[in-house]
Amino acid sequence: MTRVTFLKLVRYLEERCNFHKDDSGFGVTWTCDNSLAFTKKFCEKNNLDFAHVKALLEGNGGFCDCEILFNCVERISKGTFLPAKAEAQMK
Ligand SMILES: [Zn+2]
Repeated sequence: MTRVTFLKLVRYLEERCNFHKDDSGFGVTWTCDNSLAFTKKFCEKNNLDFAHVKALLEGNGGFCDCEILFNCVERISKGTFLPAKAEAQMK
């Protein structure tokens, strides 16, 4: 199986959060519902252990999807492997 790096999650969230200029053209706006909804989806798609991924992210200031991009990218090395589900590890 392929191991999933933190970088892959960052790329995924960048796409989902969709940072872009707001209507005024001066500010920046993005999509985030103040939860880890995108991260959870990413974990399901990639067979990752969401509870462990969540603990890792929250321990590094990422309490919602956009905070991962704001806070975790500075603290978690991009090459860090995200924890896979136990049954996936046994394959
Ligand atoms: Zn957010």
